[in-house]
Amino acid sequence: MADALTMYIDGRWVHAHDGATIEVVDPSTGRVIATVPAAGAVDVDIAVRAARRASDDGTWGSAVAERERSRIMFRMAELVREQRDELAELEVRDCGKPLADARGDIDEVAFMFEYYAGWATKISGDIPPVGPGAMSLIVKEPVGVCGLIVPWNYPMMMAAQKMAPALAAGCTVVLKPAEQTPLTALRLAAIAEAAGVPAGVVNVVTGIGAQAGGPLLVHPMVDKISFTGSKDVGKHIQRTCADQLKRVTLELGGKSPNIVFADADLAVAVPGTCNGVFGNQGEVCSAGSRVFVDASIYDETLQAMTDFAAGITLGSGLDPATTMGPLVSAVQRDRVNGYIESGRTEARLVFEGQRPSDPELSGGYFVAPTIFESTSNTVRIAREEIFGPVMTVIPFRSVDEVVALANDTEYGLAAAIWTRDIGRALRTARSVRAGVVWINDSQPAPTETMWGGYKQSGIGRELGPYALDAYLESKHIYINLAN
Ligand code: NAD
Repeated sequence: MADALTMYIDGRWVHAHDGATIEVVDPSTGRVIATVPAAGAVDVDIAVRAARRASDDGTWGSAVAERERSRIMFRMAELVREQRDELAELEVRDCGKPLADARGDIDEVAFMFEYYAGWATKISGDIPPVGPGAMSLIVKEPVGVCGLIVPWNYPMMMAAQKMAPALAAGCTVVLKPAEQTPLTALRLAAIAEAAGVPAGVVNVVTGIGAQAGGPLLVHPMVDKISFTGSKDVGKHIQRTCADQLKRVTLELGGKSPNIVFADADLAVAVPGTCNGVFGNQGEVCSAGSRVFVDASIYDETLQAMTDFAAGITLGSGLDPATTMGPLVSAVQRDRVNGYIESGRTEARLVFEGQRPSDPELSGGYFVAPTIFESTSNTVRIAREEIFGPVMTVIPFRSVDEVVALANDTEYGLAAAIWTRDIGRALRTARSVRAGVVWINDSQPAPTETMWGGYKQSGIGRELGPYALDAYLESKHIYINLAN
């Protein structure tokens, strides 16, 4: 019998007002492991009103001194660390990723709360000079009530990436996790409660996107939406939020270039490139899924990548031997398989791995690592975000050509460059239109740095001090000193 979980609204653990639920499925077996409330507009309204009250009465933003906010957030980090193994296991059951990866996610979640707990006592304004007769104060204030809508590929990390800076800035939040992966978001609410976050400051509503996320977009008491997810939903969110001119941060998809120059150290570039495409089952917004390889080293590099992919072991994320888990859902598996079919007709299939043979996993949503080669960047598998373990390898002959190919995409989230020539690496990094560029690496995104995309990969920035700007308003107070 699957657990019937409740959601967290205004300091209480509640069912949906109409009792509706959705099933949570273990993607490695296809079995239902829990049910969570399917929130609707009524539930979201209660959550938003609670968050509004906690914002307006200063429960969190102004009356709770920064040091107290900071202390509570440090306590949240401690609790995440104490529950690390349990949280990691829950994440694996919910989204399928290998346990070692989930542990890494949870460690980063704990650090995010520590990092922004530190910031809570360091947000300050400015006093620009305006002459002897006056004084100007630029003060920072919380934006207010924030709707946080997150996807399923890094469920707890995406939630923390928004919640931690929002809380540090003094905002109150309504978090809407993805319907496929609500379990760790609910645990995060329990951790906030246990750490002493007052009722109404953190609310978690579970449910389907349009029904549970949609009401946040149109609710007049929500000041800001911070969204991570697909480009199309991101556009819908921006259009809808425009009506009330809500503040919006969008972290969307990508089709990131991964460039291997002829002088690259292949012992590093090959595993780095492969992990940058196949890591987290390819369910990564910044996956370097368009792999450009210098024609002079093309054959040996492609062979080495194929050998690497052949060494990937699919299985349950809880099995220590597993290096690639299932995709998150049957829908996502079918979507990715659709792209693989499309690739068979428009490109050359170079490698396709094996699904797990264990009959226990026969109902799981596994897609094996797949490598295509193409001479063109215009094929569908090189243009659209697949969000699965599918690599497209394309040869190039000059720096100018590869920069043009790298930029020939509607996205601009990330890029990776592999070369021993630092001058070429930096020139290429400056020429690629992407928010994050890795040199001789792929995918690191330390909390202290910055994250966000150019072009249709998003609006705004997360991580580091940049994330705080997204949850703060600036106010100018002008004082006439003559009176
Ligand atoms: P999605 O856009 O389908 O869903 C994301 C979230 O939005 C979910 O919580 C969903 O319930 C909610 N949602 C869906 N429709 C909605 C609506 N009409 N109103 C309000 N909320 C709604 O994306 P997904 O499939 O969960 O995630 C995959 C996408 O996320 C990929 O495109 C990936 O690139 C992107 N992503 C981006 C980043 C980044 O940092 N840029 C990180 C992770 C994932």
